[in-house]
Amino acid sequence: MSKKKPQNQTLDPENWDEIRALGHQIIDDLVDYWKGIREEPIWKPIPEEVKSTFKDSLPANGKNPMEVYSEFKTNIFSYNKGNVHPRFFAWIQGTGNPIGVWGDLLASGMNPNVTIGEHAPLYVDQQVVNWCKEMMGFSEDSSGILVSGGSMANITALTVARNSFADLNIRSRGLQEISSKMRLYCSEETHSCIQKAAEIIGLGTDSVVKIPVNNQFEMNTLALETQIKEDIDEGFMPFCVVGTSGTVNTGAIDPMEDLLKISRKYGLWFHVDGAYGALCKLDPVYAGRLKAMEQADSLAFDLHKWLYVPYEVGCTLIRDKAKHRASFAVNPNYLLQETRGLAGGPDSINNYGFELSRGFKALKVWMSIKEQGFLKYQQMIAQNNRQAEYLGELVRECEELELTAPVSMSITCFRMVKKGYSEPKLRSLNREILLQLQEQGIASPSSTILNGKYTLRVANVNQRARFEDMDLLVAEVLRIGRGLINSIE
Ligand SMILES: *Cc1c(COP(=O)(O)O)cnc(C)c1O
Repeated sequence: MSKKKPQNQTLDPENWDEIRALGHQIIDDLVDYWKGIREEPIWKPIPEEVKSTFKDSLPANGKNPMEVYSEFKTNIFSYNKGNVHPRFFAWIQGTGNPIGVWGDLLASGMNPNVTIGEHAPLYVDQQVVNWCKEMMGFSEDSSGILVSGGSMANITALTVARNSFADLNIRSRGLQEISSKMRLYCSEETHSCIQKAAEIIGLGTDSVVKIPVNNQFEMNTLALETQIKEDIDEGFMPFCVVGTSGTVNTGAIDPMEDLLKISRKYGLWFHVDGAYGALCKLDPVYAGRLKAMEQADSLAFDLHKWLYVPYEVGCTLIRDKAKHRASFAVNPNYLLQETRGLAGGPDSINNYGFELSRGFKALKVWMSIKEQGFLKYQQMIAQNNRQAEYLGELVRECEELELTAPVSMSITCFRMVKKGYSEPKLRSLNREILLQLQEQGIASPSSTILNGKYTLRVANVNQRARFEDMDLLVAEVLRIGRGLINSIE
């Protein structure tokens, strides 16, 4: 006698041809989008009626996938952030690349959870980490993990640094009485994620000692050493020096060689935040200055910035694999590693980081590097640097403009100047130039304040940017700025 069963439910389509057609349409629309992006405005404001659709409450009933896609096109696709555009230079945001997108699509379609188990995606993940080591000059027996981005890469490294400090068994005992004594050193220009990481790993903001910078925005290493000695004398426990390869403000490079020496001299962990600029090592012009990075105890860097792959993916490399594993490995009953079958295969990636479930983000990197080859990336990164220098020259040649920081890596900071204008008036002028550049859809630099000067900041990790875009940017800054001269209060 057969029992009566409820009707089976699934999320798969009733009509496979329809979902196939939608897939084709999406691919076509994306390719058209990238192909034509140069002719489009870089950004446009979102109309109120579109914004209001994002306040609609939870839909109880579904609709046809074509309808969903059409809503996406009208309300979302048209109001993108703009970092796919050739003249997007705000913050430090990568452009993405077509094959990387296909990689993400395939990764999502295969949908493996790349943590434990014998499956090809896990080997791809490991291969990409090994390529990262090769690019960064880390030895084969070092270890690493792909994470969501630079912030996660930095906190992963700093956790290992903290847990490796002395023989205090911090992982099991916690920080206890030493939490207020440990000291981490970084420069005033260090990215905010280092402070956040220190807060989260229990050190607290007060244990982050910010060392002053010189007029190139690089850490003053004399001040660093003096501070370390003073702290030791006062009973503090220095444990880590963080150098930045490419500060977020100006692309400055802390003196890597000196930081390495000082770290070794005092027995401190040497960590490099290279979220933006570790990959600058691929440009022969910078390779020498970044050489000492190869000997860092840990290095954090982003692949969604200067390797141009779509969001998100970053990488942490740790020199000493045993210390890395000792910081994260656990063996709960439900995650037993086997010698055969599905739960066989390499050491679980969960033993090297906090996150358990992990997507197949390695695939977009793997496909991109295979498609282009390492040498092409070397050219691309060098090209961004030369474009930044070219923009710097245009600024230097123009009396109405001034550089507000030395051009370093691919960041150019400058502003319009006008005789007799006070600082607040210069700020209003340049702020208005920036906003109009964005609102007119021309280009998207961002802003910062350097030594009290409001600055237009052009950070170029854009694989679509051309040298001509720098000419256009300068011409438009001057056009807008000149038009404003009489209206600035
Ligand atoms: C971008 C950046 C970070 C943060 O990386 P995310 O990928 O945004 O999390 C950290 N440090 C520096 C120097 C950066 O440029």
